[in-house]
Amino acid sequence: CGIVGYIGTEAAAPFLIEGLARLEYRGYDSAGIAVLGTNGATVVRTVGRVRALESALPKRLSGKVGIGHTRWATHGPVAERNAHPHSSADGRISVVHNGIIDNAANLRTSLRAAGVDLASDTDTEVIAHLVARSEAETLEAAVLETLGRISGTYALAVVDTRHPDRIVVARSGSPLILGVGEKEMFVASDVAALVRHTNRVVHLEDGELATVTASGFRTFDRAANATDRVPVEIAVAA
Ligand code: GLU
Repeated sequence: CGIVGYIGTEAAAPFLIEGLARLEYRGYDSAGIAVLGTNGATVVRTVGRVRALESALPKRLSGKVGIGHTRWATHGPVAERNAHPHSSADGRISVVHNGIIDNAANLRTSLRAAGVDLASDTDTEVIAHLVARSEAETLEAAVLETLGRISGTYALAVVDTRHPDRIVVARSGSPLILGVGEKEMFVASDVAALVRHTNRVVHLEDGELATVTASGFRTFDRAANATDRVPVEIAVAA
């Protein structure tokens, strides 16, 4: 339902929580964040309000890269195991997703046949496993390969403990926006989550992806060709 992401010079968690709270008006049943730190990814998920998620966070969560989600369940009941982010079994890849993966049942069957333990009932979880199992050399290539195997609608954000300098995002059928800051970048499914932080945004188009780093972003299409998007300034109500 709602997606946020942060990469920059500050701790990610405060923005993720604040951003998710600003998306609460859209409705949701559970929430979660993944933050990359020196010891890999910390994933915290709760059923219920963003405030409950905030209370569940460990005291020290200083990682400067993270993604967050408010879930409106479509596949699998409302439960902590079904809340996003979803991660690969080794914890390397974490994913948040808005939308519906139409061929998730088939992909779940083939992942199980390949020996993967599925930890949730969601359509989303397959994305984390497919990205983690890709033999592509870069995270971007692994995400592109995965998009070639899924059908449906998505806005998604992916983090990888092996590449803690970036968030890779993609959209097809669900909105996704990049916010450009000073030495920091934001990701959100709705400008409401980021207008407090920047008025320079890029609305990704369907079929577009982006690599987001602390110093900027690079957009590209499904054929990995650069799309060279330029931020626009949005009017921000005080
Ligand atoms: N289909 C996914 C799920 O049920 C994402 C739902 C959403 O957009 O919040 O977990």
